[in-house]
Amino acid sequence: MAETLFSKIIDREIPADIIFEDDQCLAFRDINPQAPTHFLVIPKKPIPKLSDAGAEDASLLGHLLLIASQVAKQEGLEDFRLNVNNGAGASQTVFHLHVHVLGGRSFNWPPG
Ligand code: 5GP
Repeated sequence: MAETLFSKIIDREIPADIIFEDDQCLAFRDINPQAPTHFLVIPKKPIPKLSDAGAEDASLLGHLLLIASQVAKQEGLEDFRLNVNNGAGASQTVFHLHVHVLGGRSFNWPPG
């Protein structure tokens, strides 16, 4: 897989406001926040997008959701939204799987 901005953040080659890290994943604040709190949870494994994940990634994918929830709580969020953009047609711009976590404002449903 081609190196992305996010693998450079994992490797500390470019700076980011990292708010959580363990052996499997990293959470850091989005550089262009779309809500008062907006952070990304990414696996250290370089999976380009969700639909590239396989059965062998089931535990990792579950871990990303649990960490998203844990860090949201750490950030003081009770209500929050998760978003995963899968592919350019769904507005994915960085091809390293990431879960957006947004909170601190209200959200509409269905999304635009
Ligand atoms: P996507 O559109 O791929 O779902 O989301 C990519 C997200 O990464 C965007 O919300 C964008 O603001 C964020 N982003 C892009 N480049 C950087 C960066 O260098 N640092 C951080 N912290 N976020 C970035």
